[in-house]
Amino acid sequence: MDLQERLETVRAALPAGVELVAVTKTHPIAVIQQAYDLGLRAFGENKVQELCAKQEVLPGDIRWHMIGHLQRNKVKYIAPFVHLIHSVDSDRLLDEISKQGQKTGRVLDCLLQVHIAREETKFGLDADELDVLISAYREGNYPGARIRGLMGMATFTQDTERISAEFRGLKIQFDTLRELEESFDILSMGMSGDYPVAIAQGSNMVRLGSTLFGERGTAL
Ligand SMILES: *Cc1c(COP(=O)(O)O)cnc(C)c1O
Repeated sequence: MDLQERLETVRAALPAGVELVAVTKTHPIAVIQQAYDLGLRAFGENKVQELCAKQEVLPGDIRWHMIGHLQRNKVKYIAPFVHLIHSVDSDRLLDEISKQGQKTGRVLDCLLQVHIAREETKFGLDADELDVLISAYREGNYPGARIRGLMGMATFTQDTERISAEFRGLKIQFDTLRELEESFDILSMGMSGDYPVAIAQGSNMVRLGSTLFGERGTAL
């Protein structure tokens, strides 16, 4: 299958209201341009340097999503153009995003990344940290940032029940927060291996790489 066929397959599997973010990390400019020509406008990258290099040369109406772990000292590079940061996992990072948003005259849209997998290695806030951060946000501590919702990554496993339970837990947290804040409208969950499960559990944004672009190649 070529990209067009894979994209059609994916689009057919996505219900209305579920947004597709095409994850292009490590894939060359030409591939992203091809996806753009097929109508995609939302692209996700996980490294600041690669994101900036691609943003510079690709069309200006692309909505760039930062989906990877973000270091505070790099927020300034993406603040002028980033569409949505999926990976806010500390108050210090949110504070820096807010400052850089104010500096560039933007309010930067973000998702809080919640730790839902059982693996130790995955980044993200636990339930207590999430509560603390939301309270601080509601007190107005981050005027240059707008929290739009949550992002989570399930355990890498074949156990669909477990993936399903992890996503369900995140959806419950999301629904609870949504009652407090009207601006919470994005639940980013689901990758190539688990997006049908994520959608069944209420995801409205999926981040798909390999199912669209095949195995990852060499950057740029
Ligand atoms: C790489 C990546 C994806 C996409 O993964 P695939 O399995 O290739 O679809 C989604 N989300 C994050 C945070 C990623 O780093």
